[in-house]
Amino acid sequence: MRKKWRGNRFEALGRTLPVLLLAGFLSAGCEPGMDTGPAGAPSETGTQVSLLEFLETHQMVELTHPLGEETIVWPTSRPFEFETTFEGWTEEGYYYASRDFSGPEHGGTHLDAPIHFYEDRWTTDQIPLDHLVAPGAVVDVSESVAEDPNYRVSVNDLMDWEDAHGRIPSGAILMLHTGKGAHWPDAVAYMGTAGTGEEALAHLQFPGLHPDAARWLVEDRDVVAVGLDTPSLDYGPSTNFEAHQILFEANIYGLENVANLHELPPTGSTILALPILLEGGTGGPVRIIALVP
Ligand SMILES: [Zn+2]
Repeated sequence: MRKKWRGNRFEALGRTLPVLLLAGFLSAGCEPGMDTGPAGAPSETGTQVSLLEFLETHQMVELTHPLGEETIVWPTSRPFEFETTFEGWTEEGYYYASRDFSGPEHGGTHLDAPIHFYEDRWTTDQIPLDHLVAPGAVVDVSESVAEDPNYRVSVNDLMDWEDAHGRIPSGAILMLHTGKGAHWPDAVAYMGTAGTGEEALAHLQFPGLHPDAARWLVEDRDVVAVGLDTPSLDYGPSTNFEAHQILFEANIYGLENVANLHELPPTGSTILALPILLEGGTGGPVRIIALVP
């Protein structure tokens, strides 16, 4: 069901979520073999359930930081700005409120489209819908990050996780829980600096994914995305963003500044990451939620 980059550009899917695909996904999520983690729900039967039945047995978890004046953006990005265009009672006798907003594609909780760091790969609107709704796998590296703020998640971390929780599911959205999300929106605690401009870049400190681990994911596993609770897939001191390049060449997209990863079990969740559908986007603000059994 899940396609991997093979050198051909896939056509963008239509604008409606294919119901059959979703039903198939949900029933696949109920196969006894899928639930491998001790923190997951009791395995359900192999019978197909409706979406509403599925929702009755799952909690919805918010994985998005709200987009507002306090939203953290990359030091060289402009901030999100909001302007009230009308607020109050009209002469016609009804209440009316409206705002304009502007901001970067890469600020706050957002998606990185593969084209962000690799030429001729998917833009935001080309990422297939079945890559945006996918099983979640959550790797907790917060203990290592507590000792090294610039920690990079290694192949060993991922293999240790698999020893405990089983193989990273094919087609998964892999989430790295670094613990940094707890500091949002304190930019200094979150990423080492609240400064702006080029000169602030040298002060960035936060964990990320090691390029070797990115390469391992591309070559030996079959994830559709990697997300984490920091501003970038590559760690703060990175200057060449190598993990981005490796993942994005394979059309594996990124999710950055993800919230509340501590609320997810290592396995068993279903993640929905739906970015604003920007034509030709290099990324964009994304609403991410998880369904947890
Ligand atoms: Zn980004």
